[in-house]
Amino acid sequence: MGKCRLLVVFVLLISPLAQAQWQQKSFHVMGTQAHVEFWLGDSQTQATADMLISQVEQEMQRIDETMSPYKDTSELSLVNRQAALEAVIISKELFELLQDAYKIAELTKGTFDITYASIGYQYDYRQHKKPSQAFIDKNLSAINYHSVELDTDNSSVHFNHPAVKIDLGGIAKGHAVKNCLAILKQAGIEHALVSAGGDTGLLGDRRGRPWYVGIKHPRADDKTAVQLPLSDEAISTSGDYERYFIEDGVRFHHIINPKTGDSARNVVSVSIIGKNPTYVDALSTAIFVKGLQEGMTLINQLPEYEAIIIDNQQTLHVSEGLLQD
Ligand code: ADP
Ligand code: MG
Repeated sequence: MGKCRLLVVFVLLISPLAQAQWQQKSFHVMGTQAHVEFWLGDSQTQATADMLISQVEQEMQRIDETMSPYKDTSELSLVNRQAALEAVIISKELFELLQDAYKIAELTKGTFDITYASIGYQYDYRQHKKPSQAFIDKNLSAINYHSVELDTDNSSVHFNHPAVKIDLGGIAKGHAVKNCLAILKQAGIEHALVSAGGDTGLLGDRRGRPWYVGIKHPRADDKTAVQLPLSDEAISTSGDYERYFIEDGVRFHHIINPKTGDSARNVVSVSIIGKNPTYVDALSTAIFVKGLQEGMTLINQLPEYEAIIIDNQQTLHVSEGLLQD
């Protein structure tokens, strides 16, 4: 009896503390839902936790302010207005992200191409608007990542084609997740999850267990297609169900094949797993454009990345590294 009471007291004493050590918050940013969750170390206070959550939120807001194509005041909008006229000096952060975008464009032979926006800006999925074929034919030559010239000495960017526009929607969320994980890591956090839309980055495990990251069912909003146990990885999912409209039975959605200026329709969902949140974000978009065969072939050549692809028949395919595990 006495022992039992002791146990009850003990449980009452430790459980609020244990609860308080898992910190989490969801918020809206960059046109999507973001989430941060982490384990507060024994030596850290609740005030530290609150400060870290607010730093993560602010970091995502800051990246949105800098890189949103919808804000006239963003650095990206300035570049889109000016860079075809003259070289524009840009922040180190934007310059380095443009360098990453270039590297991934090279790696994927242009299926990831931030100049997709030269035509892409004419789509408005909410308003069910798409560019005419005449507009696409006229501007298709503006989609070419080689038109974005980066000058390392001056940290400047210049477009060598008058109709070029860029958009970082396929890479900026991964970059934001990466920065937020760095903030938490630097503060001594060892177990964390940060997500923005379909981009998730993990620090460590969930204290002795893996984190479970779900891939949405591509045709049932409230369902999960698969749950993956992961630790110390990033995972990014690109799907044709986030922003889209259907016209005459054809789905127009936000992942554009740079060769055609039209939505890519080879598969319905691509998830990429790897260490670098920025790269997995861009690669998920690129592999989506490539489709199953070409996409898997590329991923199977890259030992640091794995892929889960859902095809048009809703069959799930995984890369070789996941089969071996
Ligand atoms: P989400 O934005 O839903 O997380 P993705 O990571 O797949 O999905 O990114 C899709 C976004 O990438 C689009 O909204 C657009 O901003 C951008 N994008 C679309 N097609 C391409 C492409 N071929 N190359 C680079 N970026 C693209
Ligand atoms: Mg992506």
